[in-house]
Amino acid sequence: MAIKLVTTVAGLHAESARLLREKQGASQGLVPTMGALHEGHAALARTAVEQNDVVVATIFVNPLQFGDAVDLDRYPRTLEADLALLDAQGVDIAFAPAVEEVYPGGEPLVRVTSGRLGEKWEGASRPGHFDGALTVVAKLLHYGIPAAGLAGGVGLPAYRAYFGQKDAQQLALVRRMVVDLNFPVDIVGVPTVRSAEGLALSSRNRFLSDDEREAALVLSRALRLLEERANAHEPLDLESAQAMVESQPLVKLDYFDVVDPATLEPLAENCRETPFRGEALALIAAKVGPVRLIDNAPLSS
Ligand code: AMP
Repeated sequence: MAIKLVTTVAGLHAESARLLREKQGASQGLVPTMGALHEGHAALARTAVEQNDVVVATIFVNPLQFGDAVDLDRYPRTLEADLALLDAQGVDIAFAPAVEEVYPGGEPLVRVTSGRLGEKWEGASRPGHFDGALTVVAKLLHYGIPAAGLAGGVGLPAYRAYFGQKDAQQLALVRRMVVDLNFPVDIVGVPTVRSAEGLALSSRNRFLSDDEREAALVLSRALRLLEERANAHEPLDLESAQAMVESQPLVKLDYFDVVDPATLEPLAENCRETPFRGEALALIAAKVGPVRLIDNAPLSS
């Protein structure tokens, strides 16, 4: 394997500086993950490899963003397979630190707060989740800043970080954090990768039984219905799409709404009843068996 595994921040900086020098690199890409990687993560990694001279993927299960210790404990950890997948996409460095490397003084006292945008939708059922996620993303984005002047001494190498559209609220929050707090990085959103049947790939899908997996397909079907209506400039008729999800007995719907893509505020009621024009995002979350699933679809017309 050509990929280099590093577990310390010092090791990451040394290896990234060496590679930027060796490749006369003018850009570095960062792909933050929690491991248990699948084709969705592979798409992020491939996009980063296409767009950058040096690519770092991080593998870190961040305790700060788990409200539930059981959920944290049972989060799948598959380092060897993850390294093989990243290597196959052409990623240069895998940074897989221990919790103590990231939080050497224990839980951080000062954190990023996600504000109003982090309290709704996923934030409403997972209090504190986005503060924990943004705090670690802030740290990872700092670790990944490329060393200055390596590309022949003219300016900083470009710096980009890659996040999945699958986690639309997280992506919106990361974009806001980077703007609001002036992080020196461009955020790139990558479209959701799905199974052939339409299920959005997720590390948690492995906990679904065959019946639950089949039932879970109603989420992407309902989103597709809205997409088709938006494309045809028809009223979205969210209620009928909601009814479709609720008719599936194994699926317990949490929320399903159509929102502004940047603020995640629900669109005015009349946008659902009049022919659809503009840009929006349909957001859905449901519990299927033991697993909480989220999905979304950009609507554009
Ligand atoms: P995770 O390891 O689940 O925290 O995800 C790491 C990154 O991969 C996040 O930016 C996710 O949005 C992205 N991701 C996860 N699943 C998918 C998918 N099915 N398609 C595209 N990106 C994904």
